[in-house]
Amino acid sequence: MRDPLKQRARSAVKRAITAGVLVRPDQCSRCKKPAGTGSDGRSLMHGHHHDYTKPLEVEWLCFHCHVEETNEQGQYAIGERNGRTKYPEALIVRMRELRATGLPYAKIAEICGCDISYAWKAVTGINRKRAA
Ligand SMILES: [Zn+2]
Repeated sequence: MRDPLKQRARSAVKRAITAGVLVRPDQCSRCKKPAGTGSDGRSLMHGHHHDYTKPLEVEWLCFHCHVEETNEQGQYAIGERNGRTKYPEALIVRMRELRATGLPYAKIAEICGCDISYAWKAVTGINRKRAA
């Protein structure tokens, strides 16, 4: 499902950051910890929209708090059973939707504020240790 309002809000945030209108903070607004960067060097600080009709009103959440936010909606994680990964289902669904539109994993990772290997694993569902 594509939501043009969501997409517009997200790209507005991206443009605002590029233009210096919005500044991505160093600290998460909830846990007050720095979000850090993914293995690809992208920030894991995520501008979370509560209202997509207000595209520049975002709550800055680190990736972990964003995961919690998603779990609050009662979604749970694929991969939870093996105790190794905790991907919130809503996030996985969203990544798969993005992938279905033909976006490359790097772009999906950028949109979701996570790193590319996470996006790849979430979309493909492959999370087994590689055979030695
Ligand atoms: Zn946080």
